[in-house]
Amino acid sequence: MAHCFLEVALDTPLNSCFDYRWPCQPGEEPLVGQLVLVPFARREVMGLIVAVKQDTDVPVDKLKDAIAVRSQLSPLPARWIALAQFAADYYQRPLGEVALPGLPKNLRAPRTVALDRALKKLAKDTSPHDATPSGMPALNPAQQLAADSIGGAQGFTPILLYGVTGSGKTEVYLQACAQVLARDAAAQILILVPEINLTPQLEGNIRARFPGVMLATLHSSLSEGERSLHWLAAHQGQARIVLGTRLAILSSLPHLKLIVIDEEHDPSYKQQEGLRYSARDLAVWRAHQLAIPIVLGSATPSLESWHHASSGRYRKLELRERAVRDAVLPTVKLVDLERDRPKDGLSSALLAALRQRLERGEQSLLFLNRRGYAPVICCDACGWISNCTRCTSFMVLHKPEHRLRCHHCSLELRIPRSCPTCGNVDLQPLGRGTQRVEEGLQAMFPEARILRIDADSTRLKGSAQAAFDSVHRGEVDILVGTQMVAKGHDFKKLTLVGILNPDTALFSQDYRASERLFAQLMQVAGRAGRAGAASEVLVQTRYASHPLYGAVVRHDYDRFAGSLLDERRQAGLPPFMYQALLRAEAPELATAIAFLEGARDCLLWDGIMINDPIPMTMTRVHNTDRAQLLVESSSRPALQAFLREWVDTLRAMKSRVRWSLEVDPLDI
Ligand code: ADP
Ligand code: ZN
Ligand code: ZN
Repeated sequence: MAHCFLEVALDTPLNSCFDYRWPCQPGEEPLVGQLVLVPFARREVMGLIVAVKQDTDVPVDKLKDAIAVRSQLSPLPARWIALAQFAADYYQRPLGEVALPGLPKNLRAPRTVALDRALKKLAKDTSPHDATPSGMPALNPAQQLAADSIGGAQGFTPILLYGVTGSGKTEVYLQACAQVLARDAAAQILILVPEINLTPQLEGNIRARFPGVMLATLHSSLSEGERSLHWLAAHQGQARIVLGTRLAILSSLPHLKLIVIDEEHDPSYKQQEGLRYSARDLAVWRAHQLAIPIVLGSATPSLESWHHASSGRYRKLELRERAVRDAVLPTVKLVDLERDRPKDGLSSALLAALRQRLERGEQSLLFLNRRGYAPVICCDACGWISNCTRCTSFMVLHKPEHRLRCHHCSLELRIPRSCPTCGNVDLQPLGRGTQRVEEGLQAMFPEARILRIDADSTRLKGSAQAAFDSVHRGEVDILVGTQMVAKGHDFKKLTLVGILNPDTALFSQDYRASERLFAQLMQVAGRAGRAGAASEVLVQTRYASHPLYGAVVRHDYDRFAGSLLDERRQAGLPPFMYQALLRAEAPELATAIAFLEGARDCLLWDGIMINDPIPMTMTRVHNTDRAQLLVESSSRPALQAFLREWVDTLRAMKSRVRWSLEVDPLDI
């Protein structure tokens, strides 16, 4: 029996490619890109064939036989493997760890029942495959120019669609999609949104506009069955539009012709654990690889993208006006809390504005980026406060659930009846979260229909969607929420936005804090007045003269972004500098720091600056101390070359300290 040898990528943390033997006649070898079941460490696991060879260096007695090739599945395209390889190299991880976890579980299962079922279902698909759009509204001239410019772009064309909130970016995407689908009968389009809660709204728009086109959605709340069905529909080219969250960037799309990244500035595009990739950055690479256009849309672009647009690397398209007739941007006013003392967290100006909306039957949104009732409880008698015993953080009071919760390690305790230190029964909540604001509103406006939307109120599957639907149906007078309600949603009856406690971010050590705060305020302000009624935004602050608030009042992204970029340039920060962050965790801080000191000293490299290790701002989480080491370079290739060598050296140290590397970190 003749044999060939398969080089197979596996999802293992270290070197991830292994050779296996496979019996086959010449000309009947398996194909690169096929999945294969192989024995590994006494288990059977699914791997990806990355090479088929006639020879191997592995000694015969060490060589194992592959078990089964998934030949019913068409191979993953070479370009898809190249994308995974790029991500693996760039983020310094093994190929298998990038390529395999993104595939639906049903594809990776040893048994093929579920896979076969999904393939059968897709084979029977008889949807009309008619890309004719229906019900296209007339675009305004700026929208038309943008849609034509995107729809007609040829070759690699990165486009920044800079459009104020409510300027009708969605309509531009849809009409650009229509042009691409009409031109090419096989074309596929990938649309990414930052949050799962934004998919139903856009999904509805796409289905209404393209009733004859198969749409596949990819996000984390699909069932395994749905997920494999949708993934396969994309992989086989049947789904012409794929809508998803960041994980969809690694889906297989053989005829991809256009990528749209909505709200491109959003930090959710960055994966924060495991393979810490930026879906936006990978999308730009993918568009370049395929020589296709990519649209990055935002009212508050990331400074990276703004910089590229200003320097001419990206084409910039602007929508300066709101799309709905007579709709204008809301009037933003600052409420000086030094003068207007708040009651239950609400200034008299905001209370009056709320009352007015209730009388007129319009909706209001109160934005507070802090869930729970109060961030901490304390004892006035002895000074005890509810620290988490496992983290450098507080236990947050959750009143409806009668619990104290740590938001970092998930520790939960019953609310103590009395102070654990001195026995005082009068424990006080300090500060204010969304639950407390909701409670205060209920007392002040007993007749109003108040709804809170945050991670706690939407824990059950489907509950977030139900909540957003009831806002859209007008069943809510006052909406209280965290960043979950701040972005993307097109609430038509909303005419007032109150921003309760934004000041803390002004003094953060994180150099990105002001960029993020500004974007967040502009986004949440942008929920008001979208359907044409006059609207206002009230920002409650103790720092009314801060330039950031001035820029929000003037809706002046351009100038604010310009001044932040000047600061970054002078301070040698991204996008003018490339960074990587090495993190280490250990039961004792000293161990983590010692590991990082070793890492700092083990490799010298021209053009690379290695800083000293420091404890992370939140040092202890779940009884583990964490420290970090920042590496910087003004050259991306130099940084990449250094990181390759460095990671090899660190792996060879075989330290017991847990460490991880993040390239282009967002939080440092
Ligand atoms: P953005 O994403 O830019 O914030 P949306 O795409 O959500 O804005 O559009 C805001 C509102 O404007 C939506 O209600 C949409 O239906 C409406 N709209 C968009 N384009 C037009 C148009 N050409 N004419 C009328 N209304 C429009
Ligand atoms: Zn006490
Ligand atoms: Zn904790």
